[in-house]
Amino acid sequence: MKGSLSMGRIAGVPLRFHWSAPLLIIVLAVGLGGGTLPEWAPNHSQGAYRAWAVAGALLLGASLIAHEGAHALVARRVGIKVKDVTVFALGGVTRMGQATTARDEGVIAAAGPLTSLVCGGVGLGAAVLTHDVAHWALVSAVLAWAGWANIALAAFNLVPAAPLDGGRVLQAVIWRARGDRERAARIAARCGQVAGALLVGAGLVEFFAGATAGLWLVLLGWFLSMAAVAEVRRSTLTESLRGLHASDAMRPHPRCRRLPGPLRPRLPRRPAHRPAGPLGNGGRRPDPRPGGRPAAARNDHDPGSGGAGPAPRLRPAPADGPGPPLVTSLLMPPG
Ligand SMILES: [Zn+2]
Repeated sequence: MKGSLSMGRIAGVPLRFHWSAPLLIIVLAVGLGGGTLPEWAPNHSQGAYRAWAVAGALLLGASLIAHEGAHALVARRVGIKVKDVTVFALGGVTRMGQATTARDEGVIAAAGPLTSLVCGGVGLGAAVLTHDVAHWALVSAVLAWAGWANIALAAFNLVPAAPLDGGRVLQAVIWRARGDRERAARIAARCGQVAGALLVGAGLVEFFAGATAGLWLVLLGWFLSMAAVAEVRRSTLTESLRGLHASDAMRPHPRCRRLPGPLRPRLPRRPAHRPAGPLGNGGRRPDPRPGGRPAAARNDHDPGSGGAGPAPRLRPAPADGPGPPLVTSLLMPPG
């Protein structure tokens, strides 16, 4: 993803953060500190709510990385190359190669939501312990919020609409049943388009009802729709190219032009180490040949740019060769 920075590795895979990732933490922290924590654990200072809200948002961010890390880990286990994991404003995304079997596709997709469910269970368990045993109401509220958020994350990702994880599972099931991977991908992506449109609609209704958080749903739905459209296009293209070879796209008898005589050098002769001189025609220098086209200017001070040194010399072409000689075979070292 453009605009992201590498920040270490997870499960041996590069972990990247998009510039928009801090937005996710800010939005989560504002929602948690401004409403949830004062309601679930009253009678604490604003400073305490803010500090624990940031901690809770970071905790949820970490569990999001665990979700993506699970996808990456299982993909690597089944031999699929994983490029990276990127966290951005709407969550996380793992870039990897395609699964070769329906089973691998399903297992990789299911690993993320299952990890979120485990994180959710651990969070809720820890919340009960800190509340009943240690009596840390604020800490318990943060852990409970993170636990429920993870369960909600798992539930949302299990919606059968690609590219959500549930959509990938649906794709794997159809692929296994029908034996047609691209058809399965297209059906799952169509479901993704429908789910994205529904999310946009729900977000707009929520926004016009007065909840600013509705915009988040609109953004999420739009992102889901765009990814689903791209998936439909990819599977359609892949299916249309099925069974074709490179030779099918080539002209069987291309037109060739035979040169009337032997290959001759047509390079301009220049004196060695000629000074650059003023360039008055937009960085192009007139060709020394009478009536010739302007030649591209080169930087004489930069040896790497092919400065105006001695013109290349060519050795004569052999008269009895098996065919037309290559220019590279005629080049001689300068001197
Ligand atoms: Zn996932």
